[in-house]
Formats: sequence, C-alpha cells, structure tokens
Amino acid sequence: MKLSKLASEIAESPTFALNEEARLLRERGEAVINLGIGEPKNKTPIAAILASAAKLTSGEVKYTPPDGLPSMKKAVIRYTEENYDRLVAPENVSITNGAKQSLFNIFYSILNPQDEVIVIAPYWVSYPEMIKMCMGIPVIVTPEDGTFTPRFEDIERAVTSSTRAIIVNSPNNPSGAVYPPELIEKIVGMCEKKGIFMVCDDIYHKLTFDRNVAVPAYHFSKKDIENSTIIVVNGVAKLYGMTGFRIGWVIAPRTLTRVMSNVLGQTTSCVSPIAQAAAEGALNGLQSVVEALRLQIQNNRDVVIQEMRTFNGVRLIEPKGTFYALPDIRAFSNNSVEVSKFLLKKAMVVVVPGREFGMEGHIRISFAGAVKDLTEGIARIKWVLDPTSPNEIYIGDKKMIRDWM
Ligand code: PMP
Repeated sequence: MKLSKLASEIAESPTFALNEEARLLRERGEAVINLGIGEPKNKTPIAAILASAAKLTSGEVKYTPPDGLPSMKKAVIRYTEENYDRLVAPENVSITNGAKQSLFNIFYSILNPQDEVIVIAPYWVSYPEMIKMCMGIPVIVTPEDGTFTPRFEDIERAVTSSTRAIIVNSPNNPSGAVYPPELIEKIVGMCEKKGIFMVCDDIYHKLTFDRNVAVPAYHFSKKDIENSTIIVVNGVAKLYGMTGFRIGWVIAPRTLTRVMSNVLGQTTSCVSPIAQAAAEGALNGLQSVVEALRLQIQNNRDVVIQEMRTFNGVRLIEPKGTFYALPDIRAFSNNSVEVSKFLLKKAMVVVVPGREFGMEGHIRISFAGAVKDLTEGIARIKWVLDPTSPNEIYIGDKKMIRDWM
C-alpha cells in the first residue's frame, strides 16, 4: 500500500505501546507492574467533576470557539497571573486537546521546512517526532555524561541561522531534572538576542521536591507579551492527574495565537466543552489537590531513592521534580531496549528504554503509581539485573528462580 513517506516515518509512541502490552498481559492474568506510563493515580478533583457534570446536564454541549471557551481562558489568565506573575489577554491564550496538541500546533505554526529546533536530551519522546511531522529538523544537545543538565555553551553552539526555536522542559521528563535559574536566564537572553522562540513545556512545573523550584522563563524577560519570544505550554494532565480530559493551553503573542487557532479550527474544530469545563473547575477549585499530589509523589520519589541505594551497579541522579527517575544501567548493559524487553519477559515489569529519550544506557521508571508497585517493581528489576540480589523471587504466586547468570 502506498502511504505518506512523512507519516510512515513517524515512530509509534513507545509509552503507549508498552502500556498496551502491559494491559494485554494483565488481561491474561499475569502479575504485571507498570512503571512505564506517567500517570498519577489520584481521582479527578471534585471541583472538576462537578463543573463538567453541570456542563453535561445542561444539555448545551456544542462547538466552542477554536481557541477555547471564554470562561476557560479566564481561568488560564488567572492561573498565569498567579503562577507566572504575567497578566495576559484572552487573545494570548489558546486551549488545546492536551499539551500534546499545544506543542504540535506551535511547531506547525512557527516552522518552515528544514527549520531547526534545539531539543535538550534526555527529551520527551514526542518532541523530535512532532518537529519532523512539521518538516523541521530536531537538533539534539546532550549534556555531559553523568549529568542531565545541559551546558549553556553547548546550547549556544547548536544555534545556526536555521534555528527557529528551542524547547525547554524543566522539570524534565524523563530525568526529573530541574534546570537551574541561571541556565533559564541565559537561554532567555540568547533567544531574545537572536530572535529564537523559547518553548517552555511547563506541564510538571509545580511537581518539584525539597526546595527546588522551576523558575518561569518570564521571570527573566522584560519584554511585553506581544514582543516576547517565550511561548508557555501547560495543562491539567500531570498537576491535577487529569490525563484523560485532554486539556492543555498555550500562552503566546496574539499573532501566533491567531495562527494556532486557525490550525486547531481546521483540524479538530475545538476542544470538548465538557473537558474544558472540567479543567476550568480544577483551575478555579481548591489548589490543595495539587499540593496533596506533590507530597504523595515526593514520598514515592524518596522510596525510589531508598530502593536504588541498595542496587549494586546502578547510578541514579536524584529526581528534583516530575514523577520519573532515569537510572544508569550501563553496568549491566548498554542496550536499554534489550534490557526493557528482558525485564518484561522475566519479571513482568514495564519500564521505558532510555534510547527513546535520547539517553541510551538508561531506563525510565515512572513513580506516579502506588508505593507497593514501586518497591515490588524495583525488587524485580534488581532480581533480573543484580547478581548480588537473592536468587529467588515471587512474581504473583509463582516462585521464580534466576537462571541466566
Ligand atoms: N509534555 C511532556 C513533557 C509530557 O510528559 C507530556 C505527557 N506525557 C505532555 C507534554 C503531554 O501532556 P498532555 O497529556 O496534556 O497531552
């Protein structure tokens, strides 16, 4: 069959593929532990449920403007003022089907064929694929071995006359790194000087631990929003655990917002008003739900660190935010895809290979789920990889003996 070359070259989302594999194994009765997908286990905040239920029972579920319901925009404007100290206008806001669509629409609206976008490794799997879908070229900047924070000089060196944007995701999926404010400041300065868009994927911005904070890029810019090169992406998926509602948003200059709104209007028309009402409810409701989630995730992070300490050979840079850890497994293998397959086959644990994030020799563990799954999951990984760990383990009610070392 003759298919589009561009579309055929787009890789499958590895996290969704692994999630499906885990679901099928579980359906077969296997004791699978899924440390793959990044999805908090909390229930939808009550304010979101009530707001979306009210919208649904009104029976008025129709198209909305392509850039979002005015009341949802209002909630985003308030959120931006409170969390970014920036007052923006409704014309600077577009509501999208998840932060994923925000990012796609941004790339689609700013890139011409062969334009370059700087992507910092380790990076979220979808960035390079989306950039390629928009005919752009992802240019990867990799931090020094043993770190997850890039050197500013390396970023600056990657800039060419074709660079249109840099994408900055801090707190970072998959490493949990939070970039220092000095780095953010330097990137803002560079982008303003050279007229490069700085796309800030802030989807985890409140999920930081200890005294770490993700300082917004706006903090380092004196430019007004219409002349700003900063574009902010955020959403309710991670902070409110509302992954299934598919609500994200973009804050950008109005010329860009208008173009993105046309793109959305011609592709998905608008975002479901039921989902918009839910997100509005979450943003206007009690914000203690975010703090409760953050505390629970921080506790999970502590469990991961503790379990990893007794894992001979594995090196872990402590996550400062998000709900991901990216341990270095090169003491056992350089091939993260093979290791991940082996972990699923032998121990029924799902992890994501670091290769997917541009960081071979690592595996990503999501600690968004239950503590019990984390401790048991890491014990199983140890059993598979670490020869000094006990030779026998129970997986479900099956006693398993390690026979490959
Ligand atoms: N950016 C990053 C860094 C993410 O990890 C994710 C979700 N995994 C998204 C964007 C997309 O979020 P949403 O579910 O709102 O589309």
